[in-house]
Amino acid sequence: MERTLILFKPDCVQRRLVGRLLARFEDKGLNVIAMKMMRVTPKLAKRHYAEHVEKDWYPQLEAFITGGPIVAAIVEGLEVIRVVRNMVGATNGLNADAGTIRGDYSSSRQMNLVHASDGPEAAAREIDIFFKEQEICEYEPTIRPWLRAVDEN
Ligand code: ADP
Ligand code: MG
Repeated sequence: MERTLILFKPDCVQRRLVGRLLARFEDKGLNVIAMKMMRVTPKLAKRHYAEHVEKDWYPQLEAFITGGPIVAAIVEGLEVIRVVRNMVGATNGLNADAGTIRGDYSSSRQMNLVHASDGPEAAAREIDIFFKEQEICEYEPTIRPWLRAVDEN
């Protein structure tokens, strides 16, 4: 079982899309095991987007991600990092496939609604940035026998 970090970015909160987009992950059968609303500080933004801090567009990204509240969540499931990245779609909403979150709801390369970890290392690092161990509520979903066959774990 894998875990990934999902951020519903400030544009998602402002556009009142958190419920609808969270429902996509729930509908897929993934397990939401932590969630909170918060503000990203410039310091937190620099930690989370460490790989982009030197880019010329980083100041705009920081202004965007700190510009309103976000909702952060940890989602758990089989191969969930790749599954969620596929559901989120390509970075630029103009290029993202129809049927993906960004393809269906975004027309921007910056305001693309949702962040999702891009690999196991990033997922572990980002979960640690946004959540304390005691904020994670792991549980066994009772619906599990109806989500996949017994030999699929
Ligand atoms: P992804 O979120 O798909 O992993 P990146 O890691 O490349 O994308 O970029 C991180 C975030 O920075 C993007 O989701 C987007 O919000 C923003 N971003 C990416 N490229 C640009 C750009 N050229 N100008 C402004 N913001 C950008
Ligand atoms: Mg990225």
